Amino acid sequence: MNAYDLRLHGGRVFLHGAGLTTADVLVGDGRIAGIVDPAAPADAAETVELKGATVLPGAIDPHVHLGKDIRVPRDREDAERETASAVAGGVTSMLVYLMSADPYDQVHHAARAAMESGAHTDFGFHFVLGTDEHVRAVPDYVRELGVSSFKFFMNFRGDEGAYLGMPGNDDGFMYDLLGTTADAGAMVNPHPENIEIVWRLRKDQPDESQGPLHAWHQTRPPLVEAEAEQRVAYLAAATGASAYAVHTSSAAGLDVMRMQRTAYPHLYVETCTHYLTLTTASACGVYGKVNPPLRPSSDREALWAGLADGSVDTVGSDHNARHRSFKEKDIWSASAGFPGTGVMLPLTLGEGLRRGVPLERLVHATSTRAAKLFGLYPRKGVIRVGSDADLAVVDLDGENVIAADRQYSAAAYTPWEGHTTDVRVLHTLVRGRFAVRDGLLGDDPRGVYLHRERSGATALAAAGREETA
Ligand SMILES: [Zn+2]
Repeated sequence: MNAYDLRLHGGRVFLHGAGLTTADVLVGDGRIAGIVDPAAPADAAETVELKGATVLPGAIDPHVHLGKDIRVPRDREDAERETASAVAGGVTSMLVYLMSADPYDQVHHAARAAMESGAHTDFGFHFVLGTDEHVRAVPDYVRELGVSSFKFFMNFRGDEGAYLGMPGNDDGFMYDLLGTTADAGAMVNPHPENIEIVWRLRKDQPDESQGPLHAWHQTRPPLVEAEAEQRVAYLAAATGASAYAVHTSSAAGLDVMRMQRTAYPHLYVETCTHYLTLTTASACGVYGKVNPPLRPSSDREALWAGLADGSVDTVGSDHNARHRSFKEKDIWSASAGFPGTGVMLPLTLGEGLRRGVPLERLVHATSTRAAKLFGLYPRKGVIRVGSDADLAVVDLDGENVIAADRQYSAAAYTPWEGHTTDVRVLHTLVRGRFAVRDGLLGDDPRGVYLHRERSGATALAAAGREETA
């Protein structure tokens, strides 16, 4: 009987506070059992040579949509292919949005079973709330189902959400939801867009002279996002809620959150890989249609500055696996959204390092911060003894050409087709098991459900107590 299951030898390991450190990682029972000098004796069943590769906490993708209709994962294929894409890109845990107008007890049960049948990553859920019954059930969702973060679409007014089966809501609904989640130690994840202004702008003749993505951006300009963020941030402060602005796309949106946060701390900002690496001028054309839209390069630069100075908390993918056939239309009728969980870590890390953003900040935004905000820390998001052995082993001087045929996703395209990055994922370990080994996908997916009873301010407070313990 060996003392340890696995020894990762000769890597440079990212340790919080110390940065990259030459050390060996010992794994036992799915957890990190030791971080030792490479010369230290240790009796492990298997030793894997890392030859100077970089060992990071596995990435956590806080923003994923699964299932053929992007509302819920329903079968093994929904779970298997998209989580394969994720682990191939160094993601070890993902938080998936479930969307339904029905009460969530049954929906949650079925989605969890679908994921347990074939997820390569560990996974948790956020619920999209749309009815008063949902809001009343929040305390039960938190305690019994372990879901403590709740999205609602500020843009689902009237029948705007009908195509996804969601009823319209209003600011009264938002006010109730904020107060209820605050009392339950949970968080609200608003999709911030003022749809009434979008409706008005749609009446103008679109200007397609600068390409389809620029035209799309002009129908949903940054002020649409910034106004909604301003409103939800103000009401969060008034109700004592934690609010997490998903997929922040613009300088204006980021500025509003920064400003509001000086008066009220429990406000958080997520951006996405695509706002950091694509613009309205990108070659992807209609494949890059998404809401909020891709922006001009000045917004991309502002988001990088926000990531570097800490005003951006997390990077997510907003992954969605609708097939490419939904995209191959004009900009007005193509579906919005695209796959991205597989490129979140390589592109954010590669582009961030190229820009001189410290590795510390990039690890924070792609892993640690999400773990802390969503009640997963210190089990996830950090390499330390006792934490799950969720690791992304990467070559920072590799060559990685992004191509849809290596992404596993059922979407069968990527807006980053042909993009290159220096970051190549060599191995991905989920609780000590190789989900990806030497770049090859494992064939025994065993992701488990992550029960999370706190998010936002209460989760950060608990993480802080852990840190000082
Ligand atoms: Zn989304």
